[in-house]
Amino acid sequence: MLSRNKKLNILTFDVEEWYQANYPGFEKNSENLEDKNLEENISRLLELCHHHQAKATFFILGTTAERYPSLVPMIKAKGHEIACHGYRHDLIYNLSPKEFESDLKRALKILENQAGEKIIGFRAPSWSIRKDMSWFFQILEENGLVYDSSLFPIKTFLYGEKGVDPRPHFIGGLLELPPSVITFSLLKIPFSGGFYFRALPYFLIKKGIKKLNQDSLPAIVYLHPREIDPSSPHLTLTLKPRFIHYFGIKKALTKLQALLQDFQFTSIRDYFGFSHFDKGNGFH
Ligand SMILES: [Zn+2]
Repeated sequence: MLSRNKKLNILTFDVEEWYQANYPGFEKNSENLEDKNLEENISRLLELCHHHQAKATFFILGTTAERYPSLVPMIKAKGHEIACHGYRHDLIYNLSPKEFESDLKRALKILENQAGEKIIGFRAPSWSIRKDMSWFFQILEENGLVYDSSLFPIKTFLYGEKGVDPRPHFIGGLLELPPSVITFSLLKIPFSGGFYFRALPYFLIKKGIKKLNQDSLPAIVYLHPREIDPSSPHLTLTLKPRFIHYFGIKKALTKLQALLQDFQFTSIRDYFGFSHFDKGNGFH
């Protein structure tokens, strides 16, 4: 039963193997390596969610679902949402619309077969979307997606851009759900996932979520399975990406536990009432 004292927020995980990264100059040459910890890390996340009566959206990479066919059914069986993280983890701003559509279709086919239901949500690898990429949003809509969570509202060296509305908003018929930021006058600070979640002290993350909830907005929290696992293998990276990729990894699981203790979380599908979406029939 949901606690009435806890505000409802959104929990998401990007499910991919430990070596999926898109830093400039980094060559992904580890694709034949097995992620020995992935299934264990997913089980740990599922247990944690179960313990705290939380539901989540799992954005799953097509290649990962293909390699570990038990993952999607296992996550689905626990009542969580299966969504799409693309097939190959390529930066979408480097793809042509045609290349993106074939990557998307390939991933959707695998995920929908394994989940036994229509996939309605997408998140771009490494937030590799700009708001002027109208073809991207059109292709998602044409392929039956209902929402997207790919626009990062801060400009970084790899992704994001200024001027993105950080609140949930529509782009055409598609609901766009940027990751959460706290706004201090003109300054927007991300805090709810990945590096920012690992780097910031817990009290600031909690304060950020409370502030959003006071404004009647949900926080959108995002993490990767490798981020709760300090024993995960390490990539050979230069100083800056290494810092971004691994800083604070030892404390991330404890912070996530505290978050699940202090707030109530659900999936995107359930938060927005997309639960009754059925392929071919739309909402009913
Ligand atoms: Zn990813």
